[in-house]
Amino acid sequence: MSDKILAVNAGSSSLKFKLFAMPEEVELFQGAADRITGPGDGEFSYKKTGEEKVKLSLNMPNHEVAIDKLLEVLVESGAVTSVEEIKGVGHRVVQGGEFFKDSVLSTPENLEIIESLSSLAPLHNPANIMGVRAFSKALRNATQVLVFDTVFHQTMPEVNYLYPIDRKFYDNHKIRRYGAHGTSHKYVSQTTAEILNKNIADTSVIVAHLGNGASITEVVAGKSVNTSMGFTPTGGLIMGTRTGDIDPTVITYLQKVTGFDADGVNDLITKRSGMLAATGFSNDMRDVEEAVENEEHPHHAQAVVAFDMFIKKIADFITLYAADIIASGKSLDAISFTAGIGENSSTVRKLVVDRLAILSAKIDEVANSTRGTIDITASDSKVKILVIPTEEELMIARDTVRLQG
Ligand code: AMP
Repeated sequence: MSDKILAVNAGSSSLKFKLFAMPEEVELFQGAADRITGPGDGEFSYKKTGEEKVKLSLNMPNHEVAIDKLLEVLVESGAVTSVEEIKGVGHRVVQGGEFFKDSVLSTPENLEIIESLSSLAPLHNPANIMGVRAFSKALRNATQVLVFDTVFHQTMPEVNYLYPIDRKFYDNHKIRRYGAHGTSHKYVSQTTAEILNKNIADTSVIVAHLGNGASITEVVAGKSVNTSMGFTPTGGLIMGTRTGDIDPTVITYLQKVTGFDADGVNDLITKRSGMLAATGFSNDMRDVEEAVENEEHPHHAQAVVAFDMFIKKIADFITLYAADIIASGKSLDAISFTAGIGENSSTVRKLVVDRLAILSAKIDEVANSTRGTIDITASDSKVKILVIPTEEELMIARDTVRLQG
């Protein structure tokens, strides 16, 4: 018999949700609540599979109001006949530190550990915990499961996660590379092995998760070996509003010349940098591509340079990870693109792969212009190039079922 499982992602002012029938993995219902806590009314939208999307304006002073609304529309829309049908809720938790090597059941002890890790993810972990507590109250009979963004990267070797600073900072403050987007990298690397029709233990894959947040992961035998994000998701690639890797003394120098304190600089490098700052006008890749193509665009010149920087950084990380795979005596089987930009921008994929001549990687332009899960490898390419829409919520639902027992 099938169970209804809800996968949720609670942010500080948002809640995203997807309902699945498991184990069939059929998506029944999905939606999001935005601007919870105001100011003013927020937006609550949902879509039952096969039906039109519904958008509501709703005052949501807290997450509990959004959750009550969700349970109401789940029944009203007929996605469930009663909320008792929801047997499990899987929660995305951003930072699991070194404590969590797998998804776990929500217990007071586990929530306490996540709370203690909040200094590593101040924007996310407290919001995630709030979501778990609110759903535990609203759905008392459902199993609550915690699925961490960091778990997949816990297999990285020390050589790839330690920073060259005094070891006491790792021992005492747990400063190291954690990475993120783990659920997505795991899903895409597993799906890549399926598409290649290979046992995952025999695969070496590079996953490029390119969204507003972006990261690249080297996955060997189904395990994360290295990933571009670091101590926090600010490291690595140039992102929508995050810098990615920069000389660390830029931060201290900025503090000196601007008078910003640590929080001020943190705000600058996470929310007001990246493509938004480099183009001078937008962090949305659709806008950036339009400005690059249109010579009359007021930000054309800046957008061209910013776009080149973005592409080059992605190709640099892919090349590094490919070299690491080859140096360990293996061969690179595939490069898989995913997330908002990776799934939708044929231009970004083409320009990145054009820079991978050293790997003899080539794209088939006709396949590259189509959408969905696609093999875009040219017939004379030495490496498979795939596009795989990510399914983080499905992975959360799978883990929820697995831990429910
Ligand atoms: P995500 O964070 O995965 O939701 O991805 C968001 C990013 O995907 C934004 O920068 C969007 O501009 C980008 N995106 C979505 N659709 C397209 C598209 N057709 N072409 C280029 N970028 C896109």
